Amino acid sequence: MAKQQELFDSEPAPWELDEGDDRLIATIVLPEAPFGPFDYAVPEALRSSLGPAMRVRVPLGRSNRTVIGYCVRVANQVPSESRSHRLKDVQSLVDHAPLLATSMLRLTEWMSEYYLCPWGQVLEAVVPAGVRHQAGTREVTYLSVPTNVAARLTQLKLPRKQAEALRMLAASARPLTVAELSKAAKCTAAPIKELQRKALVRSDTCRELKDFGNKPTVERDQSLQLNAEQQIALSKTLDALNSQRAETILIFGVTGSGKTEVYMQAIDEVVSFGRQAIVLVPEISLTPQTVSRFRSRFDRVAVLHSHLSNVERNAQWREIASGRVQVVVGARSAIFAPTPHLGLIVIDEEHDSSFKQDSLPRYHARDVALQRAKMESVPVVLGSATPSLESWSRAKHGEFQLVELENRILDRPLPHVGTIDLRTEYQSRKSRGAISRPLHQSMTAALKDQGQIILLLNRRGFSTSIQCPSCGEVVKCPDCDIALTHHREGEKAVCHYCDFQIIAPPVCPSCQFEGIRYAGLGTQRLEAEVRARFGEARVLRMDSDTMQKPGSHEQAFAKFRAGEIDILVGTQMIAKGLDFPNVTLVGVINADTALHFPDFRASERTFQLVTQVAGRTGRGERGGHVLVQTFSPEHPAIIAATKHDYRMFADQELPIRDEYGYPPASSMMRGIIRGPSERMTETFAEHLCEEIQRGLDEQYPDARLLGPSPAPISKLRGKFRIHFLLFGQNVETLRNIVRETTATAKPPEDVQWVLDVDSLDML
Ligand code: ADP
Ligand code: ZN
Repeated sequence: MAKQQELFDSEPAPWELDEGDDRLIATIVLPEAPFGPFDYAVPEALRSSLGPAMRVRVPLGRSNRTVIGYCVRVANQVPSESRSHRLKDVQSLVDHAPLLATSMLRLTEWMSEYYLCPWGQVLEAVVPAGVRHQAGTREVTYLSVPTNVAARLTQLKLPRKQAEALRMLAASARPLTVAELSKAAKCTAAPIKELQRKALVRSDTCRELKDFGNKPTVERDQSLQLNAEQQIALSKTLDALNSQRAETILIFGVTGSGKTEVYMQAIDEVVSFGRQAIVLVPEISLTPQTVSRFRSRFDRVAVLHSHLSNVERNAQWREIASGRVQVVVGARSAIFAPTPHLGLIVIDEEHDSSFKQDSLPRYHARDVALQRAKMESVPVVLGSATPSLESWSRAKHGEFQLVELENRILDRPLPHVGTIDLRTEYQSRKSRGAISRPLHQSMTAALKDQGQIILLLNRRGFSTSIQCPSCGEVVKCPDCDIALTHHREGEKAVCHYCDFQIIAPPVCPSCQFEGIRYAGLGTQRLEAEVRARFGEARVLRMDSDTMQKPGSHEQAFAKFRAGEIDILVGTQMIAKGLDFPNVTLVGVINADTALHFPDFRASERTFQLVTQVAGRTGRGERGGHVLVQTFSPEHPAIIAATKHDYRMFADQELPIRDEYGYPPASSMMRGIIRGPSERMTETFAEHLCEEIQRGLDEQYPDARLLGPSPAPISKLRGKFRIHFLLFGQNVETLRNIVRETTATAKPPEDVQWVLDVDSLDML
């Protein structure tokens, strides 16, 4: 097995470049505060072994306590740096080979800049713990015969056993372990030890993986004959591949239009010239089904998902770094896979919000992918039936190439999507269940025909928008076009962007109906209602509560696929990328919840959700249809979704984003401040915002700062949450101002704050 050091093509080391000045300085960043960077002197003993992307032990602070940091740079001392004579020495190495290739180290530097996250923290997040701890490896010592010994082999006077062992070793085509050599020479370890002691054999120690289980063998599939649309998508990708341009191709194709087949044939090409491809998919669709499609096409596929143990992850990482893996399939963090010769990055369902990490460093895998691709001059293929408006507008401006797959394979029709107007339902009915009469009737019919049913309940966190059940009016902020959130304490309605507040209206401001109410329903209650209504049917609920165990998704989906379940009740997690031919009815219980979230992407989310879930039906020969329950059937996002018309949606939504200066018309950042004392949290948030506002007034008056205001989830785990939002065209200027103006802001004890660049989460 090759040593890790050989697997990365690192830059020429500084000591190879310059003989003149012999003082080496290592720049070290730390994974915890203080983050550095700090300069240290490289002592003589480490000169030839220390390099960038290795961890070292260094003394820190007055007490010189030992901490572990990442070396990010080794350079000759600049002669004028006279103060450097006081530098402390690096104590020792933790790693004996770089953890990352040079290009990946640069990528982490970019992330640190872009996401305003200390470099050391980024590194700690990018290099998996299993790799840092070399999980599941052991030290192996290989013996070989040095050339000067080999040259005088026959002249050596040695005891018979030693001579025999030495002769065998010299004759071996590769270095041998002690065990291998003693077996070959039919001797004990003693004569070999003696040879080692006399320095007649050379010992090299490296870390190797312990034996690792074999991969399952899968039956191989042939490439399919592409249709004309797929052919165009493929040839555009191949053009970019062959010219080694970091081009981005957005494949906009309805579910089932054959995007995955295009990815696989493009990867075929990449693999044929010895390079590797990375395929990112949302964690939720990283199912055995997806993986086996790639396994059936390629010999060596590595799968990176969040349930890998440290040992497995380290094994995968090393296998990838060795260049033996052809395709890496994984969720978000697979973008950091250490492929030595990357050829292509594919991001399926590129609009999916799971590509954004919601803890530090809050990176978006798509944006990191674009940056990595640029650094390594490889193309990126993005695929979606409902592209993010960010990607769509970049395609419209010619930054991305747009390829459209308009038709489903075999021209299977898209399912018919109908809406059920809950206002009329509400007015004409006493019972207040979640399932309307038309939906109930359709479900009965579907069950009678032995079709399967998916019921989607939209429940992201919580929902407390105020909506009139009679006319559908939603109470909104006049300044932000964002639904106000109802707060029981004080009966207030609050805008969670700008903190606009009114007394919660007792009657509908539009039609004066007196039963105005707040939305809110759980999956559990829905499941109970389904069981009560359809006693015979087999029902399964999927939500974050029931699906906590690793593998529980797969099990649930397998049961559903096998026909052991009639009705699948669940949240967003059932909407994505799954292929169930026998689903003949999809019901969306509450399309409005997503629509009136305090989030400028509410319409986009709703459109995506309804479109994606609609794609779950009509995949088989039996066709299928979708029923969407809504108080706002006339809402443009709902209308566009029922027509499967993404362009219609984008054309009406983008001008709204322009008008209010929301992304993609601008870049945004969100600051979140939390603490156990409401007053202290607020005071600090106000202080931060004042500082930032001052910077904006001086350097960037066109940018907008909204807030501070209570976050939509205003209290979480005993902590009050305040947030602010920053919008501006120039993300770099925004970042610099925020960095400068908040550098010295010190939160009071127990108060923490974070910045989320390109935030997707508005809660
Ligand atoms: P998407 O990724 O856009 O949802 P897939 O690539 O999964 O679409 O294709 C949907 C189905 O059509 C799959 O079962 C796939 O095997 C099949 N398919 C894809 N391309 C072709 C083709 N050119 N000819 C026949 N079947 C195809
Ligand atoms: Zn507002």
